Amino acid sequence: MERLNGIGVSPGVAVGRAIVLTQRSDVVRFPIPPERVAREVAALEAARDRSREQLQDIRTRIASARGHELASLFDAQILILDDPLFFDRAADLVRTERVNAAWAVHRAYEELCEVFATVEDAYLRERESDVADVAGRVRLNLRHQGTDPGDLLRDVDGPCLLVADELTASLAAQLDWNRIQGFATDAGSRTYHTAILARSLKVPAVVGLHDASTRITAGTPLVIDGTTGELIVDPTPDALAGAQERATRRPRVRPAPLAGGAPATVATADGVPIRLEVNIELLEDLPAIAACGAEGVGLYRSEFMLGGLPLEEIAEDRQFEVYRALVTHMAPRPVTIRTFDLDERQVSARGATGRRSSRRGLRGVRLGLARPDLLRTQLRALVRAAAFGPLRVMFPFVTAVEEVRQARALMREAAASLGVDAGIPVGIMIEVPAAAVAADLLAPEVDFFTIGTNDLIQYTLAVDRTDDRVSEYYEPLHPAMLRLLRLVRRAAARQGIPVSVCGEMASDPALLGLLVGLGLTSFSMTPAALPMAREVVLDLHAGDARRLAREVLRLSTAADVEHHLFDALAAAGSRRDGERRR
Ligand code: PEP
Ligand code: MG
Repeated sequence: MERLNGIGVSPGVAVGRAIVLTQRSDVVRFPIPPERVAREVAALEAARDRSREQLQDIRTRIASARGHELASLFDAQILILDDPLFFDRAADLVRTERVNAAWAVHRAYEELCEVFATVEDAYLRERESDVADVAGRVRLNLRHQGTDPGDLLRDVDGPCLLVADELTASLAAQLDWNRIQGFATDAGSRTYHTAILARSLKVPAVVGLHDASTRITAGTPLVIDGTTGELIVDPTPDALAGAQERATRRPRVRPAPLAGGAPATVATADGVPIRLEVNIELLEDLPAIAACGAEGVGLYRSEFMLGGLPLEEIAEDRQFEVYRALVTHMAPRPVTIRTFDLDERQVSARGATGRRSSRRGLRGVRLGLARPDLLRTQLRALVRAAAFGPLRVMFPFVTAVEEVRQARALMREAAASLGVDAGIPVGIMIEVPAAAVAADLLAPEVDFFTIGTNDLIQYTLAVDRTDDRVSEYYEPLHPAMLRLLRLVRRAAARQGIPVSVCGEMASDPALLGLLVGLGLTSFSMTPAALPMAREVVLDLHAGDARRLAREVLRLSTAADVEHHLFDALAAAGSRRDGERRR
């Protein structure tokens, strides 16, 4: 038995076997038991075969439309896929380090990048973006082979405790918190955010354990005491019995899981209705939506239908088929489809294989207006699909009223060319600070707003959301962000148009209450996050949340906001405990 001391951030005691996760960039690493290695390697091979088929398919399609010279650009990616330095290395990592395949792919990619970094040759350096594309494609295909972190739980019987280097909201969203009874993390740096998360998940938690995620092996019996800040590894029978007795003293109160997957309207404890929808990228994700009870699709990211093909190769009929499938599957629930949020490199075959261009360049609706032929094609496909169920069209990356007017004119043209007066609601993403600040001017021009917090944070705070070195500056609770959210919500309310939030902030159980407090009542999130969001809403008192929002809007730093949220949650928790004891 060993006792590790950290900081208890969410009270109570939990007992179970360890599952271990570490996350770097957006890829999660987790150990797998020996008996699972063969299955993991098989999943990796299947993902590679699927990736090869997709790349060959793209190559063939481009060859027939554009000639062999352009098609051969994809040969480089096919070669990388089969290169021993990439694929065999990844398979080797799964076998020798006993880690999940997605992580192994990421590691093999990083090793290749290190090699490229030492090479002077510009042509070879260019290949780095091909390796990134190939690794991304294999990981995406792995997602459909059942090797995600949620799958970890299948390898462990009974209750589990999570040990992680850090617990992010996006990782929390992928896990089944009916099975995970508590968690312990190495990191103390994001203590308050993690603490708020733990309290929202209503599980005991200890943070600041430094290296617990490397010292503890998966399957080890553990006790987490969130009241004393202690993690007991391999408890003696006596310690275990004592902990089990304390664990039952403070049972977790969770609402019953949703039955049948019907769309569930949900309201806060004091009766404010909250709309919960999902963001989706792939049609394969549609069955998961039925299971989570979403009221609709709040964001379909159209660009994912490209699958590596340049936009010029995606004909109107192909787009229409995808949209029709989506709308038909969801009807009568509405689907909000965002027009392509691409940059110019993804438009033509030559650009598609080049380096990723600036996300602040010709992008989103700007690109659509610069290439009206492409936007018109897409809008025609959307108008045709609208005949099959409720559909809303949304333009991304809007910065000014003129863009909205021009885009809407193209929309009218597309409908007229089909001989229909579509009457389709048209909205915009609010994800650039200019749009947020000018929301009162944009509101009369559109039927709805959707706030994209991912881009709004990065452009407001001047932080590249993909650059790890500045991740500490990526702060959703920055006072500027809270003010912008209030501004947009008020502009929408004055105009009487709906506004929802579809960025990661909506997926974060630690932040949802504050968003409700800011007056936002409609959210769209990754499907895995929805059940937890539902629980948070059912437990929330909107009146209290509004009071809390008013208080935090007076604070001047993100850290103060976080502390205040934490204190409020802690006070609410003790109040609830007091009521339960009475
Ligand atoms: C956003 O910016 O918040 C958003 C939802 O769009 P994406 O993540 O696709 O840029
Ligand atoms: Mg965005």
